[in-house]
Amino acid sequence: MDMPLPAAAADAPIFDPRGFRLSPFEADLTSRAREFGARVLAPRAARWDREASFPTANYDDMRREGWLGICIPREDGGQGADFRAYCLAAAEFGRHCGATALTWNMHVCSTLWTGLLTDDLEMDAPTRATHQRRRAGHYARILHDGAVFSQPFSEGGAAAAGTQAFGTIATPAEGGFRINGRKIFASLAGHADFYGVLCTEQHGSEKLSRRDTLYLAIPRDAPGVSVEGEWDPLGMRGTVSRTLVFTDVFVPADAMLMPPGLYFQAASRWPHMFMTLTPTYMGLAQAAYDFTVRYLRGEQPGAGPVKRRMYATKQVAVAEMRVMLEQTKALWFQAISEAGPDPSKDQVLRALAAQNTVMENANALATKAVRTCGGQSMLRSLPLERLYRDSRCGSLMLPWTAELCIDRIGREALYERGEAD
Ligand SMILES: Cc1cc2nc3c(=O)[nH]c(=O)nc-3n(C[C@H](O)[C@H](O)[C@H](O)COP(=O)(O)OP(=O)(O)OC[C@H]3O[C@@H](n4cnc5c(N)ncnc54)[C@H](O)[C@@H]3O)c2cc1C
Repeated sequence: MDMPLPAAAADAPIFDPRGFRLSPFEADLTSRAREFGARVLAPRAARWDREASFPTANYDDMRREGWLGICIPREDGGQGADFRAYCLAAAEFGRHCGATALTWNMHVCSTLWTGLLTDDLEMDAPTRATHQRRRAGHYARILHDGAVFSQPFSEGGAAAAGTQAFGTIATPAEGGFRINGRKIFASLAGHADFYGVLCTEQHGSEKLSRRDTLYLAIPRDAPGVSVEGEWDPLGMRGTVSRTLVFTDVFVPADAMLMPPGLYFQAASRWPHMFMTLTPTYMGLAQAAYDFTVRYLRGEQPGAGPVKRRMYATKQVAVAEMRVMLEQTKALWFQAISEAGPDPSKDQVLRALAAQNTVMENANALATKAVRTCGGQSMLRSLPLERLYRDSRCGSLMLPWTAELCIDRIGREALYERGEAD
């Protein structure tokens, strides 16, 4: 007779600290994220999905337990996670609640981009001093006031794909800017305390330029800010990604989360910044595999103790899922380990390949999990059908949608800079 494995084996760390040679800090951080995910996020995940409601209670617990400041440097009072450490922890969140992990990512980017990323970018000394002063205020809002940030970029046109200037306009005004525009799919709409908006600074009658992109913190209750539209999507329902409208909203110059021109520099010199949407889906990929193992062993809570693991077809399917999962993890781990300023062309192509792989494979694994486990596994009382729907969203997220990754990899693999036919 087989020795039964402990049921918890299926929920081991996604990235085993010994196998992946994690630093002691990463091992501790991911272990705490995993524990938080299982204790706090997992039991509530079905509710946000069913109601398409924002996971406010999760944010209360995240605030209390220090997760809002994960990427704020330790000397400023945060947890001091760098890009890779954050990605690894966020995957453990995504495994337990996709919507919470995805919205948390929008918040964390406001600290990662203003912090670690801008430290790697060029600016003159006075600009850096001003940025550091503003950034200290930004960190304090999060750590002392518990403020949550969102990241509304998308406008429904080509701007979020990075091919044209944002149509949300910041017009210079006495002491700051006046903002006009609208953002679609603005996760945390109506729930974040500040919207970290990307917009274009208008210089007189000059044509709008991506170089003039500004990243501004707009308070939720600023006059002229409104939330519109319904939110009843297929997946990631707890993100509450409704439409945000800005009508003549005034913000002071200190609302700049990055100095003028720095977002454009970051997008070209620190391209891995766009990979921050992937950890959620890495977690969902792992969750789909874990579910399948538990289910076939007759150990999935709520599904009854029927074992199905003795069938050769199930064993083959799980083996194929494991191969796909290991491929996904290996490529993703390599890409997040390489994140930094001025990557080589190879590193950028690898990051795009990793993004495409995680986003596509998360859904492929969830699809295969449903097929393998069978009809009873997709009942709404079990988490698999939610994983299936949530994982469908990853490939759609700009600027690095699965399609756009393929588009760039193909073109950039075949053409060097300046070449044309
Ligand atoms: C659950 C969820 C949460 C989201 N949260 C946020 C958020 O918080 N903030 C935010 O800014 N956005 C968010 N988004 C939006 C997301 O990033 C995309 O902007 C959105 O899905 C685009 O939808 P669309 O139909 O307008 O796409 P379109 O712009 O119509 O594009 C459709 C597809 O065409 C392809 N495409 C687009 N542009 C080009 C191009 N120039 N060349 C070639 N192909 C192209 C892409 O593959 C794209 O998937 C969220 C999306 C989802 C699903």
